[in-house]
Formats: sequence, structure tokens, C-alpha cells
Amino acid sequence: MIYFYMKITDRKITLLYKAGCAFLPDRCPFCDIPVKPGELYCKDCSKKLKFIRYKTYAKGGFDCTSVFPYTGEHKAAVTRFKFNNRKQYAYPMARMMADSILKNYPEEEFDLITYVPLHKQRHRTRGYNQCKLLARKLSRILGIPYKSTLIKTKHTAPQHTLKKPADREKNVKGAFRVIDKELLKNKRILLLDDIITTGYTLGECASTLNKCKPASVKCATFAITVVKTT
Ligand SMILES: [Zn+2]
Repeated sequence: MIYFYMKITDRKITLLYKAGCAFLPDRCPFCDIPVKPGELYCKDCSKKLKFIRYKTYAKGGFDCTSVFPYTGEHKAAVTRFKFNNRKQYAYPMARMMADSILKNYPEEEFDLITYVPLHKQRHRTRGYNQCKLLARKLSRILGIPYKSTLIKTKHTAPQHTLKKPADREKNVKGAFRVIDKELLKNKRILLLDDIITTGYTLGECASTLNKCKPASVKCATFAITVVKTT
């Protein structure tokens, strides 16, 4: 009886939570001020945004397209989205990513959108996976189904805390496992993350998916850490 009651309560909480999410006010991801429903960003920010629609490669040679450099207001947007519960940024960010995906992969017809998973421990502390929110919105925008395809089995240190590329590579090596191998066979997969820096995390995820013989794996992120060269 107690168990039954708890189940109903859980369901009520989930429904209330979902209803609450639906009423989160739209905000400009770059400065956080409220904007009109459906507006991607405010007028002030529209004047200073640096769309680069950059194309690069994740480790292992997997194509990756990104919308912005990971600097200034673009970086602040990712930080609030990830750590400050700004789940409503998912829609405007996904819309901007959709433009860069269509521009950089004009010939590609994807069968499946998927995303970089969080370890369950980190998921518990953060409460949500920002990449899954992006995948869900992109799925609706592009009309392509999304699916959780990977599990993170190793609780790793955040990549940005490791400075040496070799340490970053080692940190994520073997950290992911495929959920359903059959599902991926011959599929053209679009893999999402919020940012790409050295490309080891995305590369490791893409390589793990690639072992299941998909037709292709291509990546997309919102931001990219651009290393200045002299
Ligand atoms: Zn703004």
C-alpha cells in the first residue's frame, strides 16, 4: 500500500515537474534576460554574436560542426545551461545548432540523433543531462528520432581539469558502452555534445558507436574551444 502510494506521488511529482518546465520563461541564452516566446536571443546580443559554424574533427577523424567559439557570452550560455538549471536554453541552442548542421552536412540524411551521456553519479548531482535536452529539441526541429545509445561506465574527472592531451585521452578511454548494438547497424548517426575541446570525449563516444557498424557517425556541438596559434 505504501509502495502504491509512493508510486502515485512520484508520478504526480513528475507531471508537476514537466508542467513546470513547459512554463519556464524564454530567455536569451547569452545574457539571460527574458525574451518573447520563441525568440532565440535578445536584440543586443544579436549584434555581438560570433557565428562561426566551424568544422573540425573529433579524435579518430569524425567530422564535427560547432556554432560558436567557447568564449565570452557563448561560454556563459553553456555554463548557465549546464550548471544553473537553465533548461529553457535547450530550444534556442538546438535551433542554432540545426542551422550549422544543415549548412555543414548538406548531403547527409541522419537516421538517428544521440548524445554524450553523463555518468549516473554526475547525473544525480546535476539532475539532468544538458546534451539529452539538446538531442530532444533537435529531434523535433530536424524531424529525426533521438535515442540514448551510450552509457558512461567510468566516473571520470572533468576533462577541463586535465591539461595534458595524453591525460585527457586516458581519462575517457573505455569510459562508454553501447546500450543496444543492433539498433546502430547501418544507421547514419548524429552525435551531440555541448562543447568540443580536444575532441577526446566525442572521439571516444564516436569510436564506441562505430564498433557497431553504423553507416556513419558525425558530430555536432554548440561551442568549440578555439586554440590560438601564433
Ligand atoms: Zn541577450
